[in-house]
Amino acid sequence: MTTEMEKAQHWQQYIPQVLDTLAGTYFGKGSVELEDPYQVLIATVISQRTREEQTTKVSNRLFARYPDATSLADAPVAELEKLLYGSSYPEVKAPRIKEIGRILRDNFGGKVPNTIDELLALPGVGRKTANCVLVYAFGIPALCIDVHVHRITNRLGWYQTKTPEQTEKALEKILPNPYWFTINRLMVQHGRAICLPSVPQCQKCPVRQWCETGNARAQEPGFKAAD
Ligand code: SF4
Repeated sequence: MTTEMEKAQHWQQYIPQVLDTLAGTYFGKGSVELEDPYQVLIATVISQRTREEQTTKVSNRLFARYPDATSLADAPVAELEKLLYGSSYPEVKAPRIKEIGRILRDNFGGKVPNTIDELLALPGVGRKTANCVLVYAFGIPALCIDVHVHRITNRLGWYQTKTPEQTEKALEKILPNPYWFTINRLMVQHGRAICLPSVPQCQKCPVRQWCETGNARAQEPGFKAAD
C-alpha cells in the first residue's frame, strides 16, 4: 500500500520538470527583472486579503500620489485611507503604511532594507510580504508563498498542507535552491492563466503529466486533452 509520504515523494521527483516547463511557458527567453523595492513592499501590504485586480488599482493610485517612502511618511492618514478604498481594511492599512514610510525615512534613508529581520520589524509585514520583497525587489532567494503557490503545489501532489505557513515549511525541505527565486512568479502566472482557483484547466496544462490532480482528472469520463 502506498503511503501519503511515498505518494508525495513520487510527485516531488518531478519538481525540476514542472518548474523548467513553466519557466519555458511563461518566461520564454526573457529575463526576470527586479522591481522597485518601495512599490513591492507597499503593494504587498495592500494586497493582504485583497483581490489582485483591486491591489493593482489601489497601489497605482497610491504610488501616483506618494511615489516614495519620504512622501508617504508625511501623508495624512485620512487621505491614505481614501486612497486605499477598494482594498480590505483601509483604516488598518493606512496608519501602517504611513508608519512604514516614517521608519524607512528615519532609519533607512528612505530605502527599503534587504534583510528578513529588518523587514519583519516593519508594521504589517509578515513572512509572505518580507519574502516577496527579498525575491522581487532584491533577487534574494526566498519563499514567497501566496495563494497561488499554496494551491498549485498542493494540486501537483508535492504535499498536503492546510496553510501557506505549512507550505513554506514543506517547500523549504524539498525545493532545490535555484528555484526559490522563480517559483512565486511561475505559480502566479500559471494560477492566473491555467491552474485557476475554482476550476483548473488541466486539459491544456503543460505540466499535467507530472501533476497528481491532472493525472486524476485525465481518468475522468469526458476528459479531453487540448494538446
Ligand atoms: S494539471 Fe491541472 S491541477 Fe495540475 S497544475 Fe495543471 S492545471 Fe493545475
